[in-house]
Amino acid sequence: MLDKVLIANRGEIALRILRACKELGIQTVAVHSKIDAALKHVKLADQAVCIGPNPSPQSYLNVPAIISAMEITGAQAVHPGYGFLAENADFAEQVENSGFTFIGPKADTIRTMGDKVAAIKSMKAAGVPTVPGSDGPLSEDPEELQATAKRIGYPVIIKAAAGGGGRGMRVVKDQQSLINAVAITKTEAAAAFGDGTVYMEKFLQNPRHVEVQILSDGQGNAIHLGDRDCSLQRRHQKVIEEAPAPGIPEDARQAVFESCVNACVQMNYRGAGTFEFLYEDGNYYFIEMNTRVQVEHPVSEMITGVDIIKEQLTIAGGQPLSFKQEDIIFRGHSFECRINAEDPKTFLPQPGTINAYHAPGGNGVRVDSHIYNGYSVPPNYDSMIGKIITYGRDRDSALSRMRNALDEMLIDGIKTNIQLHEELVRDKEFQKGGVNIHYLEKKLGL
Ligand code: ADP
Repeated sequence: MLDKVLIANRGEIALRILRACKELGIQTVAVHSKIDAALKHVKLADQAVCIGPNPSPQSYLNVPAIISAMEITGAQAVHPGYGFLAENADFAEQVENSGFTFIGPKADTIRTMGDKVAAIKSMKAAGVPTVPGSDGPLSEDPEELQATAKRIGYPVIIKAAAGGGGRGMRVVKDQQSLINAVAITKTEAAAAFGDGTVYMEKFLQNPRHVEVQILSDGQGNAIHLGDRDCSLQRRHQKVIEEAPAPGIPEDARQAVFESCVNACVQMNYRGAGTFEFLYEDGNYYFIEMNTRVQVEHPVSEMITGVDIIKEQLTIAGGQPLSFKQEDIIFRGHSFECRINAEDPKTFLPQPGTINAYHAPGGNGVRVDSHIYNGYSVPPNYDSMIGKIITYGRDRDSALSRMRNALDEMLIDGIKTNIQLHEELVRDKEFQKGGVNIHYLEKKLGL
């Protein structure tokens, strides 16, 4: 078992990791930028180290500073959370080469999954359903490109192999624009990601975003914790998530769960991970694997009773999974609303000081947030300041609890997206379940 963990992150996820460590009797080290000295987990950690100035390249992305902090404090392992260094294979490698444990998959696995062409290839080999596509990098030959697009069928999407965060993609409607679009995407990808490799996929018109949570111990055991629907998105950013994904035939769900578990066993995956799919007309299409814990992991925890972060910690400590698949009992429904410090009209981040904060509560309500009265949201990082998660025996009850929770929550001093959430949880189509990934943007008139 690990005895001391350094948390290389900030905000709500750093606090979430700290809580899991404390439950397991693991000592904690918080690292923070200058402006983040007042973060809640920094105050609660056994030790805290300031690793640099506010800009994240000099602090939360500063690998030498983080590794030095591990050496100075005697931390054994590092939990990267999500964002920042969580999917940085070079960081994972340097951590392990310095004799520490990276709480996550092996560097090679992160590297493979970070290359979308390689990821799709390994998924295909493991029997995970993928999007019809070029099955590899695109050639420069115009005739070959046209033949590939014709075989897949228009519209197609050109994507950067090294892309991420919804960037490096271009939809092509017809043959006339194909050659030019490939050339532009290649140039942009080379500039943005340092790798101009692009590939082609069928562009799905109205899919839902459905993802599968897995846990795997790197010792031959893997399980799934069911699925989540994260279709409510704005600019590829998830806004509300739920588990399970509503209205999908049970046999299709079980088949995709099984393929994800098989893939984990085949690649000897270690840790928590998510297989992201687009789901359209009864079919799943793999788009990418996230080799880390995700923002929306609590909804899966609520319906399974499994603490995903605790499992990450015990797996990293060398223990086998605490559960077999048959131990996992799916019960009820859960929603998560991401609360952002942002202008409700322009969606621009709204840093500032919170003068009054009242968290919601009651049966089936969980709030994962680092904010408190008097806390100042800095302008330097992501605008998410917390998450409300609700649970109910069924979807309707989880949703009514979310309506209550949002109505109860009060954050004074800064603008937030609470009002948007209040509207969304009362939206008729959303209440029915199963809206597609364009629904929110259409509703917002974007
Ligand atoms: P990133 O790593 O940048 O998030 P993804 O491959 O996960 O890239 O794609 C991000 C989003 O782009 C998806 O959630 C979806 O909205 C859209 N997208 C990607 N591939 C397709 C596709 N083949 N058809 C339709 N939409 C797609």
